[in-house]
Amino acid sequence: MRFLLRFLAVVSLAGGRLAAQSAAAPVPTEVAPGVFVFTPNNTTDLFVEGNTTVVIGTKAVLVIDAPSVRLSREHVRWIRSKTTVPIRYLVDTHWHLDHVSGNQVYAQELSGVEIIATAETRRQIDSEDSTYLTQWQGYTPQVLDQERQKLLRARKTMKDPDDGTPITPFDIQHNLDALAYAARERPTWLETHLVDPTVTFDDRMTLDLGDREVQLRQYVGHTTGDAVIYLPRDSVLITGDLVVAPVPYGINSHFYAWSESLRQLEATYPIKVIVPGHGDVLSSWDYVHAERALVDALLAQVEAAMRAGFKQSNQVDSVKKHVDLSQFERQLAGNDSARQWGFKHYFVDPGVPRAFEEIHVAAF
Ligand SMILES: [Zn+2]
Repeated sequence: MRFLLRFLAVVSLAGGRLAAQSAAAPVPTEVAPGVFVFTPNNTTDLFVEGNTTVVIGTKAVLVIDAPSVRLSREHVRWIRSKTTVPIRYLVDTHWHLDHVSGNQVYAQELSGVEIIATAETRRQIDSEDSTYLTQWQGYTPQVLDQERQKLLRARKTMKDPDDGTPITPFDIQHNLDALAYAARERPTWLETHLVDPTVTFDDRMTLDLGDREVQLRQYVGHTTGDAVIYLPRDSVLITGDLVVAPVPYGINSHFYAWSESLRQLEATYPIKVIVPGHGDVLSSWDYVHAERALVDALLAQVEAAMRAGFKQSNQVDSVKKHVDLSQFERQLAGNDSARQWGFKHYFVDPGVPRAFEEIHVAAF
């Protein structure tokens, strides 16, 4: 439905979870000694939040990713209740708002925090992010109420109020949840402004937290400047959105590079724990294998359709008809409606035209 698609334009960039309306502060999981992960687990919602990892060293605390201002404040409160070691470093894995909109909390409500990202991420925060921020700040109470009324009417007809196409009870509830979330979060959105990283790197960088080393390295895949963080002492790998569970995000991805980056990660880093950008912490490469197989299958099928003749830029709809990723949908989403929705809207629908564009540029 059109409303939903308008939301999708900003979806990987906003934040929060309706279920988190309860007053309970988020509680992290300790995945290795002194390594804690906050997992909002709203990967298939219309508004999503990135995971946040906190590493408490003997001399410095490192935080990886700062989702919404509201959540970032809660993370800082939790850290302060846990240790007096100063928060010295915040790393932004990439430029999307569900990973950087809390930068301001670290820059303005604390002192002495270096915000670290790839130079590419800083460039993208400067050039692209504010467009999205302005867009979701524009969801005024009036706009949200109009959309809510439309959805309530659609409950009676089970048709999209904008274009008359069939919709499901899941679609309606999913959108109603997003509207309720947006209404609740809007005050925080209005006070959100983007804060640049203060330190950048191009290829790799090392941090010392006192009792452990932290290795940062740039990859390409989800964006052109993905930072991956590795803790050698603990064998913990924090991937940002190169890995997203239970279904990956294929919006504006760089699929060839993504597949290669996943291969390199496995070849480079021995792991006990993988912290994905969204979703539950992983203890093996199994999910990453599935994600990479999906990316490779998408590329192979789009390539095959283009070789069969659908090469022109106006033939992407024909290419779509030749792509069948249902085997992966069954594997990753099973019978779960939310996962099926995420697989379609966050991977297949944006991924096919994106892969088409990428192959077009590379090969034809
Ligand atoms: Zn994300």
